[in-house]
Amino acid sequence: MKTIRIAIDGPASSGKSTVAKILAKELGYTYLDTGAMYRCATYLALQNHLELDQVDDLLALIDENPIAFGKANDGGQTVSLGGQDVTLAIRQNNVTNNVSAVSALPEVRQKLVDEQRRIAAGGAIIMDGRDIGTVVLPDAELKIFLIASVEERAERRFKENQEKGIASDFETLKQEIAERDYKDSHRKVSPLKAAEDAITFDTTGVSIQGVVDFISEKAKKIIDMD
Ligand code: C5P
Repeated sequence: MKTIRIAIDGPASSGKSTVAKILAKELGYTYLDTGAMYRCATYLALQNHLELDQVDDLLALIDENPIAFGKANDGGQTVSLGGQDVTLAIRQNNVTNNVSAVSALPEVRQKLVDEQRRIAAGGAIIMDGRDIGTVVLPDAELKIFLIASVEERAERRFKENQEKGIASDFETLKQEIAERDYKDSHRKVSPLKAAEDAITFDTTGVSIQGVVDFISEKAKKIIDMD
């Protein structure tokens, strides 16, 4: 059967990773969380007290500490960095609040994009991020751009944090999400934006299954075309 590459982009907490994981399972595809890779780079920079101008040191650390994805007991995804489990550590506030600055570094992007393209080379992949449809996989067969109101995205993140035992304040979260969107959309290299041929879908008030069904239908149409 024909396999395709699906790019899912969108702002913070727009539901990308949740729906991408479900779709990947449904289609038997590989799921790649590119945000987790930028979070790992940020974690390394913070752990090693690097400043933003110490890019060469950061690139060396990324080389020395390979990022690997695994499966958690509850079916979720685990992330390890140089053999250390960082699944929870990369979701903490210090990483979240610094990731936009680290991901704006062109050299870091180049390294991680190369790695993302290598992983995608086999096809049958769903990747989520900010620049998948525009830069990483510009010829992906299906490109989706998910959006949702800041209010709803902050609510989702708040619940997610509660489940993970991460303390957060709703109003602060709202502000942080809006700030991260602004930084991600206004950076020079690969800013967050919909590809010209992406389908934009507003998930405000739509259930997870509703979003999954929408994308799944589009994917199956393309897969069945041949
Ligand atoms: O998706 P997530 O919120 O985990 O992404 C964390 C951050 O990583 C984003 O706010 C953005 O700065 C960066 N990112 C990126 N390009 C991607 C994926 C994530 O710049 N493809």
